[in-house]
Amino acid sequence: MKALCKAEQREGLWMTRAPVPEIGPDDVLIRINKTGICGTDIHIWNWDDWASKTVPVPLITGHEFAGEIVEIGSAVTDLEIGQRCSGEGHLIGKHSRQSRAGKFHLDPETRGIGVNEQGAFAEYLRLPAFNVVPLPDEIDDEIGAILDPLGNAVHTALSFDLVGEDVLITGAGPIGIMAAAVARHVGARNVVITDINQARLDLATRVADVVPVNVAEEDLKGIEHKLGMKEGFDVGLEMSGNQIALDQMVENLVMGGRIALLGIPPGKSPVDWSRIVFKAITIKGVYGREIFETWYKMIAMLQNGLDVRNVITHRFTVDEFQQGFAAMKSGEAGKVVLSWT
Ligand code: NAD
Ligand code: ZN
Repeated sequence: MKALCKAEQREGLWMTRAPVPEIGPDDVLIRINKTGICGTDIHIWNWDDWASKTVPVPLITGHEFAGEIVEIGSAVTDLEIGQRCSGEGHLIGKHSRQSRAGKFHLDPETRGIGVNEQGAFAEYLRLPAFNVVPLPDEIDDEIGAILDPLGNAVHTALSFDLVGEDVLITGAGPIGIMAAAVARHVGARNVVITDINQARLDLATRVADVVPVNVAEEDLKGIEHKLGMKEGFDVGLEMSGNQIALDQMVENLVMGGRIALLGIPPGKSPVDWSRIVFKAITIKGVYGREIFETWYKMIAMLQNGLDVRNVITHRFTVDEFQQGFAAMKSGEAGKVVLSWT
């Protein structure tokens, strides 16, 4: 089969041929139809410090996918050949205290497809049946292929009650933009999204009814005043990984405000802790998706009017993957989807 592989320990990804994976009794084989390119895949392409310490070579990359089940293991009873599906890319262990308590997303033994294990940028993917998420007819494969990052957005956005709240999202990357759409969908009052990249702020307004703020040019306080907000934002969703953005968020939150942190800072970064203490702010780190509660809520919202399709800005065939990665690296794309069939 065709597979987009990290074949050598240097910059790049290579289209190679690999054997179709053999499945075990608890697995399924999925024929991949669409895949999304993630920021993680760019780290792997660039072969940065994190990637070279984490990713075994050779490895088939990719973890955002949708396809169809073409083979099922002998012990799998609840899935059928022909079922359209996406799936959770975090493979969890069943030994830790958290796993055994049913908090699968907190399992410390988690391994990621396309990062630690063979991934989804291939014609076929082996996946434990446990990880499969069937797709209802209303969700096509293109949306199915971006459920992993939409799940990050949903997990973060649903960390705190947003009904009637004023929400600040820092970072208008694909995940921040989708989080804005979710915040709107669940009934936030004002949703303000910040970035320093105008193209991304423009994209945000094509996906969700949000107030975009270019913090390189505009002051957040002025926007709050315009929106009639007196004491600041109730909830912050940090989606940039940028230190300045987090500082700005803390500064513009109400007393007792809440922050969900998804963005990953590049290394240790200084935080003004006394400011956080004196403002009595609650901070929650967010990793991955809740397995499978996030998937359940996300699919229900998509069936009930949540629309994030406009976040997909580029579509290529897999043979054009170089163009897909170039679009991602330009920093102006939303989601880039590759078609395998
Ligand atoms: P992205 O890099 O595409 O988007 C980040 C955006 O933040 C960019 O548009 C950038 O211009 C903007 N930004 C930079 N400085 C800023 C500032 N001072 N103020 C406001 N915005 C600023 O990333 P993405 O794919 O949308 O992912 C969002 C973040 O979430 C990234 O940090 C990513 O590493 C992280 N992430 C975390 C998890 C997790 O499980 N915790 C999962 C996926 C992604
Ligand atoms: Zn991803």
